[in-house]
Amino acid sequence: MSARLVLLGPPGAGKGTQALRLAERIGIPAISTGDIFRANIKDGTDLGRQVQEFTSAGALVPDELTDALVRDRLLHDDARDGFLLDGYPRNAAQVAALDAAMAQAGTQLDAAIELTADTDVVVERLLNRAAIEGRADDTEPVIRHRLEVYRAQTAPIANLYAERGLLVRVDGIGEIDEVTERMLTALAEQIG
Ligand code: ADP
Repeated sequence: MSARLVLLGPPGAGKGTQALRLAERIGIPAISTGDIFRANIKDGTDLGRQVQEFTSAGALVPDELTDALVRDRLLHDDARDGFLLDGYPRNAAQVAALDAAMAQAGTQLDAAIELTADTDVVVERLLNRAAIEGRADDTEPVIRHRLEVYRAQTAPIANLYAERGLLVRVDGIGEIDEVTERMLTALAEQIG
């Protein structure tokens, strides 16, 4: 199976973990904007310097930077026949930018998977992760802000995809394997 997919869901819903697993099972690259930004910050690139103030505050990186990054990444050979975007799009303008990039390439999305999890669970997971991974944006005030940005800007885009008949909702609570299987089953029902 090949597919062009986006993965939505609140911070802490397990998107990163599930994106890698799902992409591997389908045989497509998982493309995480958050991972790309963190790698650039770590390597001290120009892009890293430009985005750090936003990621460390839990704010969205400006659309121009993010849209250009994704547009370029989708032109790589490995993404020609399919991809799973993790953490993009995150607001309505990014949905439009992705539509435009895909229209230009003569392709379209097959599904938008929303991984759902309740706020109390995600805050706890993120605080635990902070202790383990030491991610700079996993402090409580920044976590709260990321969740607020999600609620205000990202959660509504699930409706845009639902209106197009592309939305697949999957419960993100449960064992890691179980959630991956749930996603594969729901996806197979959606795209065959
Ligand atoms: P999480 O979903 O746990 O908040 P991510 O790794 O997806 O973590 O994102 C970390 C940070 O990277 C975000 O808080 C934001 O600053 C930035 N970022 C990632 N994706 C985007 C995007 N599509 N648009 C703008 N900023 C983004």
